[in-house]
Amino acid sequence: MAKKRHDHESQHAGLSRRGLLKGTGALAAAGGLASVPGVASANPPGADGPDLAFVNGKIHTMDGSNRIVSQLLIRNGRFADVGNGLGAQGGNVKVINLKGKTVIPGLIDSHTHIVLVGNRPGHHVLLEDLFSIQDVVARYQLASRDVPQGEFITTIGPVAAMQFPEQRLPNLSELDAVNRPVYIQAAQGGARTNSLGKAWFNARGVTNIAADGTVSGGATGTTGALLALRQEQLTDESRIRTSLGALQYYASLGLTTHLDQGAFQSDTPSGSIANENNFTMYNSFLALDRQGMLPARLRTNFLYMDQDPDSLALSARLKNAYQFFGNDMYRTGSIGEFVAPDPTAPISLVSSGFPPVANSPTNTRWLYAAMKVAQAGWRAEVHSLSATDFQAEIDGYGLVNQQFPIGNLRWVVAHVPLITLDYINKLKALGGGLKVGWGPTRTGTRVGPPYRTILNSGINVGYHADGGDITVINPWLNFYTIITGKNLRGDLINEGQTLTRQETLWLATVANKWFIGEDDLGSIEVGNHADLVVLDRDYFFVADGEIPKIRSLLTVVAGNAVYDAGVL
Ligand SMILES: [Zn+2]
Repeated sequence: MAKKRHDHESQHAGLSRRGLLKGTGALAAAGGLASVPGVASANPPGADGPDLAFVNGKIHTMDGSNRIVSQLLIRNGRFADVGNGLGAQGGNVKVINLKGKTVIPGLIDSHTHIVLVGNRPGHHVLLEDLFSIQDVVARYQLASRDVPQGEFITTIGPVAAMQFPEQRLPNLSELDAVNRPVYIQAAQGGARTNSLGKAWFNARGVTNIAADGTVSGGATGTTGALLALRQEQLTDESRIRTSLGALQYYASLGLTTHLDQGAFQSDTPSGSIANENNFTMYNSFLALDRQGMLPARLRTNFLYMDQDPDSLALSARLKNAYQFFGNDMYRTGSIGEFVAPDPTAPISLVSSGFPPVANSPTNTRWLYAAMKVAQAGWRAEVHSLSATDFQAEIDGYGLVNQQFPIGNLRWVVAHVPLITLDYINKLKALGGGLKVGWGPTRTGTRVGPPYRTILNSGINVGYHADGGDITVINPWLNFYTIITGKNLRGDLINEGQTLTRQETLWLATVANKWFIGEDDLGSIEVGNHADLVVLDRDYFFVADGEIPKIRSLLTVVAGNAVYDAGVL
């Protein structure tokens, strides 16, 4: 673990002037992420320190009556008072004047792949707050100052060509302005490298690279490129650096709690963007947690895709581990976003220990895996992408429920772009819930999910981005799409199914309490964890087109500043 205190942290004006927030890593501008080798302090969050009073703000509490107040007090990592005219506080209190800024609860993303992002090779730089190629190149140039010769600057996963007016990623000649090899592989928009990167890849047999830096697919393209980078530019230390950088970056965009949903298992380095080693990829986050250096809360689901009919690996997890075990910063989740492969694929040889399920059109490996999860009393989460898979899943949940009641286990189906009202109601009757979001880079018309239909049904529903490998994580890009029905290039993709700004914020705060299974997050109320975000502009009143550009001025987790733009 790099213990070196970086200059721009110790000199950070916003913090040193006030000296008010015990930092677990006050981060300077998002652009410097690749240059952050460690954080300033190893103090565990929420430990004893001065009380913090925030005054003169527009604080959207998201409490039961949606109060908007001007003041709050934080003590020992929790909200101690919330209201107006709170009066003078005795003792050791630091006062922060919000100067009329808008404050919201820390945002919760209940289905993300940030652990994958934290394990990307190279010096990983995130770009989801940038909307011009010029700015991308400038951020890479800034990052390059701290990248040794021969090491890559990378962005792999949560970036999209749609962020940029050109509707493409930066090309080779643009990236040649960066004096380090660069590799970008986008969730949407292909992959690019620069001349230094191209030479490095060519020397390793990755030759399917066009003159403009476009890296094609396949073994001599992106698969080979990612494999080589993972083999040569990924170390235990780089994983810690990248994991910390990812959590800090998303804290700068307001995310304070992540429920990760795992990766596809690869025992050895892989060329696939969604693959990692599910047994070791948490090590960097665990190391950060042990040192009290996690800048955001992490919850981790465990993904299972056992090919054998008995789901032996899943069974071992259920028999030998605990769900929801850990501390306030890092806690295990449960099973998701898969319990088994394809819910519709029947298997003929079942030695699951369960008798064939009555009333089931097919006895599937998926069904028996789900049975095991329910029998153990664990939460389950699966995802739906098509117009039919949610039927097999929700009908399957119903069959499981006949044998092992799931009504109190918070079983979930995520994404559900094409779910229908009858199945929404079936899942609601089972006590389940839906996670929605996952939209800003999609194309087509009426691509879903049917936000309005889902919300009006009264089912448990929460927000997720599902970003990291197939799409972006930045909540504001997702909020823009939920609110406007448009993707990032402005195409109307979800007509008639939009939500208000208040409803959208509710999904990512209060509504996600149920999905995280923790009541003391997601709203600014006395007794809750002191997680909040001071926004750089008023989410409730800016023009639609400004929503994707919203950032945090100050992000607080458990009473600690984990991101401070130095403005307040
Ligand atoms: Zn996912």
